[in-house]
Order: sequence, then C-alpha cells, then structure tokens
Amino acid sequence: MNKKQTEQLAFDKAHIWHPYTSMSEPLPSYLVDSAQGVHITLATGEKLVDGMSSWWSVLHGYNHPTLNKALIDQSQKMSHVMFGGLTHSPAIELCEKLISITPSGLNKVFLSDSGSVSVEVAMKMAIQYWISKNKAEKNKMLTVRNGYHGDTFATMAVCDPVNGMHHMFDKVLTKHYFAPSPTTSFYDEWKASDIEELETMFKQHHENVAAFIVEPIVQGTGGMKFYHPEYLKACRKLCDEYNVLFIADEIATGLGRTGKLFACEWAGISPDIMCLGKTLTGGYMTLAATLCTDKVAEGISNTEAGCFMHGPTFMGNPLACAVATASLQLLETTNWQQNIKRIESYLFSNLISLGEHSRVTDARVLGGIGVVEVKQSVNLAHIQKRFVELGVWIRPFGKLIYIMPPFIATSEQLDKLITAIATVLDEPECFTQ
Ligand SMILES: *Cc1c(COP(=O)(O)O)cnc(C)c1O
Repeated sequence: MNKKQTEQLAFDKAHIWHPYTSMSEPLPSYLVDSAQGVHITLATGEKLVDGMSSWWSVLHGYNHPTLNKALIDQSQKMSHVMFGGLTHSPAIELCEKLISITPSGLNKVFLSDSGSVSVEVAMKMAIQYWISKNKAEKNKMLTVRNGYHGDTFATMAVCDPVNGMHHMFDKVLTKHYFAPSPTTSFYDEWKASDIEELETMFKQHHENVAAFIVEPIVQGTGGMKFYHPEYLKACRKLCDEYNVLFIADEIATGLGRTGKLFACEWAGISPDIMCLGKTLTGGYMTLAATLCTDKVAEGISNTEAGCFMHGPTFMGNPLACAVATASLQLLETTNWQQNIKRIESYLFSNLISLGEHSRVTDARVLGGIGVVEVKQSVNLAHIQKRFVELGVWIRPFGKLIYIMPPFIATSEQLDKLITAIATVLDEPECFTQ
C-alpha cells in the first residue's frame, strides 16, 4: 500500500462511520480501487470475486457499458430537477415499465431515494388510506418475527423485535403486532398449522391493523430463511378476509434474485402495496419505488389533505431513473432466468454438500442465493481477512455465510466462492469459540 492509501485508510478509520461497526474500534475496511463485471479490485491490487452483489443490488455486474451509457447520456441532459410541478421522460419510462412488470393491479408509483424510505411511504400510505375510510384506529402494522424492513425509526419498529433495535429504542418505537415467523421452509411439505398463530392475530387485532407487511419468500437480514409459498398465499387470504392491506417488501427479492421476477409470483399473489429498492438501478445508485393499487391511491386522495403527504427532495431523480430503465431492459435482453437457473443448479450441486460439515447447521439455496449457516458466530475481522486472501468478497454476519453473486457469475467464479467458504470452515480461528 502506498503512502496516500495508508493515510486515506487512517482518515477513514478515524472519521467515517461504516455500517454496523464501532466508530472507536472499527473493523478494518478494505480500500477499493475499481470494480468490473464480477470483480472488485482493491487498492492493493487484489482482484476479488464478488459474492455479495453489494448487498443484493448488483444484477448485471459492475461497470456495465449499457448502464454507464444511460448514466452519461442522462447527465448531459440534466442530472436532476425537482419533481414538484415538473416531470420528465426518465421517470415516466421507468414507471411505465414498473407497472407493466409488477404483479397485476399495482398501477401507481411513488419514487423515493432509499429502501427504508419506500417502506415508510408504504406504511404511511396504508395508514392514510384507512383515515380516508373513517377508520383512523386502523393504524398499526402486523408482521412476522425475523423480518427486516430498514433502519429508520418507522421501519425499525417492524423489524424483528429481538435482532432489531426494539430493546434499545423501546421508548421511541411504535408498538406493532408480531406473529411468529414462518417455519415451513420453501422445500418442505406445507403444514397449514404454520399459519395458525398469524390467523389468530388477524382475528384479534384486525380492527387496529392498517397493513400486514412481509418480505415475500425470503427473510433476508433477519436470518436468510426461505419460507413456503403457501404461507404467503395464506397471508394474502387473511388480508382479504380481515380487511387489512398487504405490503410486500421486495426490496431484496425484486427483479429476479429468487428465480421469479418478483418473489410474490411464487405464491401467485398481488399485494396492495409493493416496495422496490436495492436492485432497482442494478447496483448503480440509490433509488426506490413504492407501488400501490388504484384503490389505495384513490382512498388516499379522498382524505382531508387531498393528497399523499410526502415528497423527497430527490424524488424521481433522472439519473437514477435512466439507469433503472436501462437495467430493466438489460434484464429482458440478457435472459436473467437462465442465469439464475444456472447459478441455482451450480449452488445445489456444490454448496449444499457443505451442510455436512461438522461446523455447519444448514446449507440452503434458492435462485441466486446460497446460505451456509454455522454453529458458532463468525469472527468477522478474521474471516474477512481470510476471504480476501482467498480472492473473494464475502461478508458474513453472525452465523450466516451467504452469497448472492451478480447474475453473470460464471461456474468458475461460483467455484471460487464456494471453495473459499469450504476452506474457512476448516479454520477454527474464523469462528468465535
Ligand atoms: C435493505 C432492505 C431494506 C432497506 O433498504 P435501504 O435502502 O437500506 O434503506 C428494506 N427492506 C428489505 C427487505 C431490505 O433488504
């Protein structure tokens, strides 16, 4: 590492927050020089195979010429204009596309700047909808445990109450209703009893519940669990039966990752409100969308306010919209389904067998996601260093070592990721005792 790089890292360590690590004694950060295709190149020259897609978001690989071009072309027209009173074709084209590809009925699009904000928007929409129906008392959320919906205050309040920040922020977070998390896995035989406690909660609390919010099929940050499509189907039915809106948080699963374009498709359901984020610009920049039905939008417009009371400064940012549209077009022209199938079958043949390792409790695969759950939590600083030495970028948390590489990852690259995981499993120093 040269002098400038050493100084930069020292500054970073002293002054810059990184996610989920101490500011006074941070875990090391690796200085990145560039990224291309499935590789992240560090300032020190190592070229790492990326197993994380920068937290689900990168679909087509880094530094993609088509996305670069969309970004550059749009920047030469305008990078941003306010969305109040103005509109533009990047936003219009994106929203046309989103309406055409999302589950039926989602006809209205609210653009915002991050996943957490899109979830806040969804919850606010649901609450305002019931105000329009003179049911202001329907203002709570119902959800399941082990969920993750963001880091802002309203979203923290629907994250898992144990893993989440409920204890620390007990006095500040709104109290919502939590049912047990689904237990029937995606691949198990469906057990109708799985839904019983949730049904009881619908029965008991529906008069105070504005919406049921859930991550369809994949509980991500809350445990990387894949649950049964029948569970999701039953949730939709309960929402209809008890007059509760259904919010699908597809921020992580949306746009192909699970093998369907949207995870809701596994259950053949349409939500009343859907959140998209992470994957929307193919990993280029931050953009999120909250889609809702005509019914929800009309209700909201019938409230005293006459409109939905929300308007982020960078709403509909043209650069982000242009890249998102180009990314959606790439999804169509690059046969993402075949890519995900290819990754999935490679992971089935080569990652599942790690489940037999004495250190592992479970190995599972769905679409372009591979998870190895271990008995003891990882020693993050050490395992991270080892992964870098082994030429891969994998960022485990707790007991979960997982990969979700860009859709273009080759068998050779997948092999490198899996071999690295297999290697660290044999190294006791990579785990807490
Ligand atoms: C990441 C994530 C969010 C939050 O998105 P941010 O862009 O980080 O605010 C919300 N829900 C799910 C399911 C996510 O994976």
